[in-house]
Amino acid sequence: MIKYKTKEEIEIMRQSSLLVSKTLGMLTKEVKPGAIPKKLDQLAEEFIRDNGGEPGFLGLYGCPSTLLISTNQTVVHGLPVEKPLEDGDVTSIDCGVLMNGYYGDHAFTFEVGEVADDVKNLLKVTKECLYLAIDQMHTGRRLGDLGYAIQAHAEKQGYGVVRELVGHGLGKTMHEDPQVPNYGKQGRGKKFQEGLVLAVEPMITMGTHKVKQLADGWTIDTLDNKPAAHFEHNIAIVNGKPEILSTFDYIYQALGTTEFP
Ligand code: MG
Ligand code: MG
Repeated sequence: MIKYKTKEEIEIMRQSSLLVSKTLGMLTKEVKPGAIPKKLDQLAEEFIRDNGGEPGFLGLYGCPSTLLISTNQTVVHGLPVEKPLEDGDVTSIDCGVLMNGYYGDHAFTFEVGEVADDVKNLLKVTKECLYLAIDQMHTGRRLGDLGYAIQAHAEKQGYGVVRELVGHGLGKTMHEDPQVPNYGKQGRGKKFQEGLVLAVEPMITMGTHKVKQLADGWTIDTLDNKPAAHFEHNIAIVNGKPEILSTFDYIYQALGTTEFP
């Protein structure tokens, strides 16, 4: 059952989403060749607690960390390891926060040092998919329209759309109804209504869309070990239109770019 949020709840949720945004912004300068993912995880946990939140992932379904750090062929759910990031890597940092009883949950794929042009393009297209999906979140349109927008854009470039993992509703629990597939058919699925809050998170691959879970029970890699990208925002439908509660602006400020959106 979908739990639609009041305007008051959406304002509380915005603060949770923004604490995730600030955490990712704080980490941005640390994401460089030689960075230890496990250290990034510790920094994030401290930052979240110092700012009045609790790590949203830690302990959830037994998750051992504050961040999920997914590098290169890892699509999502990578656990923070001691192995340093290397020049040319791309790494998705996914972060959750619980504050005032509501979750924020968003993610950005970072370039580590100098990244190959074809991988840069994968990141660019995945981020475009995210905003094309958000543009569908008007009352009266449907979940299938959102999934179609992602799938059409990714597949046009020859990229794969992961099927096994999806976006989700967000609120007092991390994963609420509805599930939000990154593929779909126009005009199909649940109609969008006022007060819906979603975590939209395209996971796009350079090769096959098929994935495998590693022996740690968490890490999801592409089956062909080609790179993947993952961007996530939290969006509410307010006055019939999408309102993005999270922001990449802290990341862009740290990078010294004025990239939009
Ligand atoms: Mg996430
Ligand atoms: Mg999510």
